[in-house]
Amino acid sequence: MRLSQMLFVTLRESPAEAVIPSHQLLLRAGYIRRIGSGVYSYLPLMWRVLRKVSQIVREEMDATGAQECLLPQLQPAELWQESGRWDTYTKAEGIMFAFQDRQGRDVAMGPTHEEVITAIAKDMIRSYRQLPQHLYQIQSKFRDEIRPRFGLMRGREFIMKDGYSFHADAEDLKATYGAMDQAYRNMFRRCGVEFVAVEADSGAIGGSGSQEFMVIADIGEDEILYTADGHYAANVEKAIAIPTPAIPSPFTAYEKRSTPNTPTIATLAEYAQCSPSAILKNVLYQVTYDTGLLVLLLVSIRGDQDVNDVKLYNAAARLAPELGASTVLAVEVPDAEAQGKWAAKPLPLGYIAPDLGDDYIAHMPSVHPHLIRWVDETAVELKHFVTGANEPGHHVFGANWGEQFTLPTVVDVRKAMAGDQALHDPNQTLLSARGIEVGHIFQLGTKYSAALGATFTNEAGEELPLVMGCYGVGVSRLAQAAVEQCHDGDGIIWPVAIAPYTVIIVIPNMNDGEAIAAAEKLYQDLTAAGIETLLDDRNERAGVKFKDADLIGIPYRIVTGRSLKAGKVEVVQRATKTSEEIPIDAVVEVIQGWYEAAVS
Ligand code: ATP
Ligand code: MG
Repeated sequence: MRLSQMLFVTLRESPAEAVIPSHQLLLRAGYIRRIGSGVYSYLPLMWRVLRKVSQIVREEMDATGAQECLLPQLQPAELWQESGRWDTYTKAEGIMFAFQDRQGRDVAMGPTHEEVITAIAKDMIRSYRQLPQHLYQIQSKFRDEIRPRFGLMRGREFIMKDGYSFHADAEDLKATYGAMDQAYRNMFRRCGVEFVAVEADSGAIGGSGSQEFMVIADIGEDEILYTADGHYAANVEKAIAIPTPAIPSPFTAYEKRSTPNTPTIATLAEYAQCSPSAILKNVLYQVTYDTGLLVLLLVSIRGDQDVNDVKLYNAAARLAPELGASTVLAVEVPDAEAQGKWAAKPLPLGYIAPDLGDDYIAHMPSVHPHLIRWVDETAVELKHFVTGANEPGHHVFGANWGEQFTLPTVVDVRKAMAGDQALHDPNQTLLSARGIEVGHIFQLGTKYSAALGATFTNEAGEELPLVMGCYGVGVSRLAQAAVEQCHDGDGIIWPVAIAPYTVIIVIPNMNDGEAIAAAEKLYQDLTAAGIETLLDDRNERAGVKFKDADLIGIPYRIVTGRSLKAGKVEVVQRATKTSEEIPIDAVVEVIQGWYEAAVS
């Protein structure tokens, strides 16, 4: 491709909409343009990158025997109503773009395809003889994200590879899940990113396991906890570890004390001159179930620890059947306005005790009349602790479970943190890093097949729901994550395998016929050899061309400059900025060698 003929516009300044380097660089280098909130056009350079990433994904999927297909993006509401996700996706999370067609039927733009694929499996799979099956597709997904941001990292329309497998039993699912783990490692390695596989939360769906693949980057939205020995890595949402020991409480006698202006753990620890780990923190949550029922949940946890929102959500979801509901729509710390809707009298916020009474809850049909009380494992062993007195400006000191307070139901809702001891080896402390989730593999089980009635007949003639797995890769997010990981002050440094072009030939002086002729010849030779090459034949100054070449991040830059006199050209490697003079006749072979070495 000749740059002089390409729709190629670079920007000197970063547009204000972009705050992270990869987003700034993709905009500045002319790869993408924003069309609306979370909606981007992939311009020709970007599309080449996305096609390469997709091709690597496709090759690794095909190698496992998975079959590519293309499912509809427009999906009827009935499928989602059958699976029970219509309300959560359109109302609670509101992540699905849903609307009515001219006949007044509800339809939505696909955020994911479990429902569609399960309907197909229900229709086409009858017998264990047809199993296993694994179908995947690469296509644009639509999600009305609350906070679209960082360009392609969190878009409202983005490209995903999603695959779904069907099995006769959990054992067979595990085999495919293992093959996907390997395929994903291959994909990310081939795309040239540094990544880590981490244990992930499987949500309320349960299932027997899920794993995320994270590209390590400071701007990553996910926190990863891992050990230096390489034996443990988990998303903080899922991580488990041994908390640091509590420092014993100095308050051996029980008494209520006035503690003015101490509504937080920090202010109280300062006032009482004790460790936060000697304080029992009581956090009030309100849980909304799909039936509309509101339940108030009081969680007691050691003062130096925090509640893991995901674990709490999952625990609340497990309570659903008992409360006549099937899912949780939201778990929130109620603000003043929310409290106003159900509180019978003002709450002693900041001074709540584990025995806060049910009399704070107004009698209303939509509100569960009893507080549900939980204590996190960390707080069970506490002795002589300090905690709220249910009275503003007051705490009790030297309290014990079984004396002043009844021990509530014990749960594990603690958020693991850096500095905790690892379970597999207490000499290892957890370290923290940030990551960008680029893939997620998931043992789903029978949630969707059971809901949609997708069954098969096994060898014994029994009719059973299909056992499912699902596997996603954020193709467009992965492409940008590579930029986030590989760039410098001058621009993008594409990993060779996913660069839009492998070589850029720069003609430094467009008035020099010899330089033009040499560049044209090299352009033809490289192209003929199958090396994707850009020719910068624009009427621009050499400095401008070099800057642009660095900005767009093409791995190898050839300059037909002064060394032509000696029958050579200058070849610069973008990643290292190393420059060497190579005889013109040897260029194709040298670059071919570099390319092979880089993508193998
Ligand atoms: P996240 O927690 O980042 O919202 P998710 O758990 O919703 O991701 P999945 O439903 O598992 O993601 O989707 C599969 C993959 O698609 C993710 O691993 C991620 O790489 C990518 N992805 C998800 N949402 C977006 C988005 N809004 N923009 C770009 N890529 C996305
Ligand atoms: Mg999401």
